[in-house]
Amino acid sequence: MDIHEYQAKELLEGFGVAVPRGGLAYSPEQAAYRAQEIGGERWVVKAQVHTGARGKAGGIKLCKDDHEVAHAADELLGKRLVTAQTGPRGKLIHRLFVEEALPIERELYLGLVLDRKTERVMVVASAAGGMEIEEIAHSKPETIIRASVDPATGMKPFQAREIAFALGLSGGLVAQAVTTLLGCYRAFVELDATMVEINPLVVVSGPRLVALDAKMTFDDNALFRRPQIAELRDKSQEDSRERDAADRGLSYVGLDGAIGCIINGAGLAMATMDMIQHAGGEPANFLDIGGGASPERVAKAFNLVLSDAKVQAVLVNIFAGINRCDWVAQGVVQALQKRPAGVPVVIRLSGTNVEEGRRILRESGLPIVTAEGLADAADTVVAAWKKAAA
Ligand code: GDP
Ligand code: MN
Repeated sequence: MDIHEYQAKELLEGFGVAVPRGGLAYSPEQAAYRAQEIGGERWVVKAQVHTGARGKAGGIKLCKDDHEVAHAADELLGKRLVTAQTGPRGKLIHRLFVEEALPIERELYLGLVLDRKTERVMVVASAAGGMEIEEIAHSKPETIIRASVDPATGMKPFQAREIAFALGLSGGLVAQAVTTLLGCYRAFVELDATMVEINPLVVVSGPRLVALDAKMTFDDNALFRRPQIAELRDKSQEDSRERDAADRGLSYVGLDGAIGCIINGAGLAMATMDMIQHAGGEPANFLDIGGGASPERVAKAFNLVLSDAKVQAVLVNIFAGINRCDWVAQGVVQALQKRPAGVPVVIRLSGTNVEEGRRILRESGLPIVTAEGLADAADTVVAAWKKAAA
């Protein structure tokens, strides 16, 4: 689960990490009021949306007076911010964080991630902050510092000091970096995070070390024991299709093409996506029915895929092991008898009870196109989609 920047800053502040003074705003008037409350001469108005790279997308605005703050807020609120990470739909802005703007002397990168290979928390840091970590890894890989933390001891001050020195910090900044690193590590472990990222971590006059941006992601499987984290969830930032599927116990991935896909298993989903693209189409989504899906579950899945306005053709691609082709066929027939699809439907069945499944489809009298094998299924659905679209 992701949370907003202001929420991450509030949590990290509780672990000793220094953050700029700021306040939340839901309207231009409130934003201007926040600026007055904070004081100073420069402010940043920051869109609170679950994505990075907001700065480049116009979601971070530097302002010189409270009129500019109100104007920036007016421009941002209610808009969908499209960044390099959101996909073309973008994310709705309905909260802003107004902060004192700080004159930056240096920008650093600090991230803590769960390294699944070593089963440890890994600290990733770089003296080249401000850009995304992927960009740093590409253009300045030599600046990246990595340190893995022994879970038996947790992060020790000497290890934090080593990282601070490697970042080129000296004097009083070393102690501040140690506080920041130890605080981030404790927040990570004690709140069941899977990622903590401060980018940029900046040096400002003083000198002081301040977290100018903050991002945290949490382990969904641990939310049951972290109610104070679970309540930070903002459903408006999630893909509504994925949310509806999850609420029904189905696993859904929303994409941007035109072909709706019902499959079983993540591996088959990947293969199906490749084959559809190879055939000249683009998937609109994937719905994974999982194993042992009942006809009712399949019907539900089918309706969910069809409810996406982007879907102009549907491919049901099932390789049944634990699943049963006859149940899958029954589910699709049930759904189509209640409500015609209105778009071409192609079905490829293989595995358990396949003959019975095919018989059910054949005898239903419904306009279903059947296909044999993955390549044939992809070619058939792409051809049907192109024909329907033309
Ligand atoms: P992101 O683009 O979503 O990662 O949002 P950030 O919070 O990291 O802001 C993007 C960039 O805006 C930062 O890297 C800074 O260069 C700039 N910025 C953000 N806050 C301030 C501030 O208080 N003062 C100054 N001078 N620049 C800021
Ligand atoms: Mn950032």
